[in-house]
Amino acid sequence: MRIIMFGPPGVGKGTQAKLLSEEFGVPHISTGDMLRAAVAAGTALGKKAKSIMDAGRLVPDDVMIGIVREVLTSPKVQNGFILDGFPRTVDQAKALATLFDELHIRNYKVINFHVDNAEIIRRLGSRLMCVNDGNIYNKLTDGVTAESPCPECGGKLIQRDDDKEETVRKRLEIYHSTTKPVLEFYKERGVIVQLDGMTSIESVHEEIKQLVGA
Ligand code: AMP
Repeated sequence: MRIIMFGPPGVGKGTQAKLLSEEFGVPHISTGDMLRAAVAAGTALGKKAKSIMDAGRLVPDDVMIGIVREVLTSPKVQNGFILDGFPRTVDQAKALATLFDELHIRNYKVINFHVDNAEIIRRLGSRLMCVNDGNIYNKLTDGVTAESPCPECGGKLIQRDDDKEETVRKRLEIYHSTTKPVLEFYKERGVIVQLDGMTSIESVHEEIKQLVGA
């Protein structure tokens, strides 16, 4: 299973990647989660990334490509991977293609999530993250509120700075100007499958399994 989850923020890429990862034992590689872990740990990368992320902008390509290269060349991805949040620019997609060539990776699919803008803003506006384990919950579907403890570890649930409405709008703008053109790159390679992300978490999960033949 080699999958790239593609689409704007808030379409369910992380949720679906996690479900697939649990069911098939394939690592979920989320560049956003890796950056948030670096911010929480106060590393040099975290210090550099924090203000960029809070503003809804993109961390520089060379940094992101370096991070992804390190993970994809490690033994833990031998049996596959689910990439979530990368590539986000055409240069990242080109660097990933070079890396795939080096690693002799030919079979992979790009799942293109479709969710309309109003629904994205609604979902992101009601999303909460645990400060401890980084798990994401949604007030609309998970029965949590900003006052509840994390259902898994009891940690505090907060709204991510980049899920505030103004930042969401910025992230969507950057998606349309900078990330969406990546689809052209993959169209030429014939690796895209289209996914309707507007239905329930369970039915989207089933649809993905059909699309990738899992
Ligand atoms: P995500 O959790 O995937 O929405 O990512 C959160 C934030 O991390 C993004 O808004 C960016 O600031 C940063 N980020 C994550 N992945 C990338 C990437 N591939 N390229 C640039 N910035 C990224």
